[in-house]
Amino acid sequence: MARLSNVQPLSSASPKKRVTVLGSTGSIGKSTIDLISANPDKFEVIGLTAGKNADLVAEQARTLNARYVALSDPRAYARLKELLADTNIEIMAGDDAVADIAARPADWVMSAIVGAAGLKPTLAAVRQGRTVALANKECIVCGGDFVMGEVARHKATLLPVDSEHNAVFQVFNEAQREHIDRIILTASGGPFLGKSRDELRNVTPEQAVAHPNWSMGAKISVDSATMMNKALEVIEASYLFSLKSEKIDVSIHPQSIIHAIVEYKDGSMLAQMGAPDMRTPIAVALAWPERMETTGKRLDLTKNINLSLYPVDLDRFKAISLVRQVLKTGGSAPIIFNAANELAVAAFLDRKIRFTDIEDVVERVLEEMPPARPEGLEAILEIDIKARALAGCVLNSLK
Ligand code: NAD
Ligand code: MG
Repeated sequence: MARLSNVQPLSSASPKKRVTVLGSTGSIGKSTIDLISANPDKFEVIGLTAGKNADLVAEQARTLNARYVALSDPRAYARLKELLADTNIEIMAGDDAVADIAARPADWVMSAIVGAAGLKPTLAAVRQGRTVALANKECIVCGGDFVMGEVARHKATLLPVDSEHNAVFQVFNEAQREHIDRIILTASGGPFLGKSRDELRNVTPEQAVAHPNWSMGAKISVDSATMMNKALEVIEASYLFSLKSEKIDVSIHPQSIIHAIVEYKDGSMLAQMGAPDMRTPIAVALAWPERMETTGKRLDLTKNINLSLYPVDLDRFKAISLVRQVLKTGGSAPIIFNAANELAVAAFLDRKIRFTDIEDVVERVLEEMPPARPEGLEAILEIDIKARALAGCVLNSLK
């Protein structure tokens, strides 16, 4: 379970919370920046990092008066340097620079890089004992027990930002853990809910990223359409809340209003609800253990609102059956699952493979790669590299 202490209360009497945002130019990063910008009396921005969008990160750094900025792509360094030439902002580039900024002094670090690329920087923040708001699910899928061990060892605090995990976090009473029967993560079903596998063969990247309820980055939008996102979230929940696979269920809920449910043995089901707007879970993590106002749209549950829940079609969404096997196998399986999916999604977005190939590629890489029990970061990264190489071969064989 995420550690719930070590946090400076957010009150008008306390000093500003010093924040660093990893992945500030992405969908989660921009929403985090929105909330911070609306509360200049409560937050001070220390570091910002991004992949290659020098223009946007420069604008954010200038507006928020950040101290350090890093881009992971060294080719964008010159542009960033030029854009911020008249400031005192320290500018860096490269993967190590991103991890370096994550480790600089701050009270709160948002982990919102997409993919396993977020693992090292997130770990760098954890190892400084920071409060880490975790949106980057791939890093916990790959890092698993190792990352959770480092959180405990360095007395860091992990606050789940993924909406379902943030929902569980709000209604999961750790003191009553033994009385919890299961948790249910809801899934909207994505843009292709109700379509047959045959109808999915020719869907385009544009159709796949057009999510009906949430506005998100391209990779997670494709993951939502394949339900790989929910599969990754089952793994994420198993590590964050220390639950076995059989205690984590998934239910289709097309309205995306109920984000998760915690079911207790007396029949009580505690759900967290809210409009599908990531600013709410980000605000929960930003203000925790207090609360802050957000200006996003609100639901009026005294009006006529339909809430429907129904089971996942396991024949249609292979990801959900695959993840059960992945959790049973454990060890390297979640790393392989994630790496193969990252490559397959990138190939689909590049129009190199079909939408329906994504889950087949993931299944094949899982079958072909021998299982291992990685110990420590280097071993995890080695499996990630090998799984990417194998996924590359599988992808080439499809073309
Ligand atoms: P995004 O693609 O919009 O943004 C990703 C950010 O990471 C950008 O700032 C980008 O510049 C940066 N980045 C990309 N590659 C990088 C690299 N190799 N090194 C360093 N930085 C790099 O993604 P997003 O939708 O904001 O999602 C971010 C994370 O949050 C993902 O793990 C996603 O699963 C998770 N998440 C997102 C949402 C959402 O609503 N968008 C919801 C729940 C969880
Ligand atoms: Mg989610």
